[in-house]
Amino acid sequence: MTSALSNIYGRLPVAFTHGQGVWLWDGEGKRYLDGLSGIGVSCLGHAHPGLVKAISDQAAKVIHTSNIYEVPLQEQLAQRIVAISGMTEVFFGNSGAEANEGAIKLARMFGSNKGIETPTIISMESSWHGRTIGTLAATGSDKARQGFGPLPAGFVQVRYNSIESIEKAAAQCPDVVAVLLEVLQGEGGIRPSDIEYLKALRKLCDERGWLMMIDEVQSGIGRTGKWLAHQWAEILPDVITLAKGLGGGVPIAAVGARGPAAGVLKPGHHGTTFGGGPLVCAASLAVLDAIEQQDLLKNAQAIGDHLQTRLHEALDAVDGVREIRGRGLMIGIELARPCAELVRSALTEGLLINVTRDNVVRLLPPLVLSREEADQIVDTLVPLIQQFLANKA
Ligand SMILES: *Cc1c(COP(=O)(O)O)cnc(C)c1O
Repeated sequence: MTSALSNIYGRLPVAFTHGQGVWLWDGEGKRYLDGLSGIGVSCLGHAHPGLVKAISDQAAKVIHTSNIYEVPLQEQLAQRIVAISGMTEVFFGNSGAEANEGAIKLARMFGSNKGIETPTIISMESSWHGRTIGTLAATGSDKARQGFGPLPAGFVQVRYNSIESIEKAAAQCPDVVAVLLEVLQGEGGIRPSDIEYLKALRKLCDERGWLMMIDEVQSGIGRTGKWLAHQWAEILPDVITLAKGLGGGVPIAAVGARGPAAGVLKPGHHGTTFGGGPLVCAASLAVLDAIEQQDLLKNAQAIGDHLQTRLHEALDAVDGVREIRGRGLMIGIELARPCAELVRSALTEGLLINVTRDNVVRLLPPLVLSREEADQIVDTLVPLIQQFLANKA
């Protein structure tokens, strides 16, 4: 039978029927260690009892009402996000791209309020902010943009991790309103930015009156061992976006704002039918509860350090391994040549991983990963990488 699905994904030939913790099973009963969490989504692993209970209890009460009415769970979740982020207000959406669209709209309205008619948002080369028309304009990937022009004006990309590059772009463009970046690029190949760079960028945004907007869609919600990855640099951005891990598997996204970004969006400026509904907010509250109760920030940091240490020990001396980098449970292993085939060989061995930017093996395991499970990832992955590199291209 030919598939009725649009052919927009290159799918692996496996379907999972159920999961438990960091494990997934296919229809034949084969077990897989989930080293990817559905690209950083299933942060509590699979079938987490607290999350399952929150979703089923809420579904039995009410799933959807509307943003026409008050949604107490949305208010509660916003309070929690404010508490972990230092933002002062939050609005909800349904995906990472949609959250970034919201941030872009906020930045443009911020500019408009200052009388700027042609606002520019500075974003980064090799960044990833989503696949909508607006977020594609911010995303630094020619491959993702190809064929979808004309994209909206008002975006300029600069070299990642370079203040000089931002200053150069700003000199040619008087109407900058915001800088949008991931502090640890995900799709871009698990590329961290320097703490000093982030501190300098915070200062620059303050001096120039630009919004500092941080896309924490992949790096946020405990992934790096702090609630938000930028907290490693002890800075406070003006806008943050969250999605992926926020719902532990249900679609929910959030935009947080503070300081000059607070109060910019007013009734009638923005909205969404589904955003922040009772079901997804109940799920997200359960995710945040579990992260706190199970000490998962500490776990992500400790197990992430252990993973990186073991990967360094096993791979640093291997010819063809360029760099092992990342933070917490967001780890990339850059090889000297394209290695997409490793995804399939790992799958055969019962390990789920991903390769991004052609040659970076990406690990985003659930935050509940244990030391033994981390060892299993290393013990499966390292020989596969060694064999791959030993076979001449
Ligand atoms: C995945 C991702 C997005 C897009 O999120 P979607 O939910 O796929 O729209 C945006 N920014 C970053 C940093 C991401 O990793």
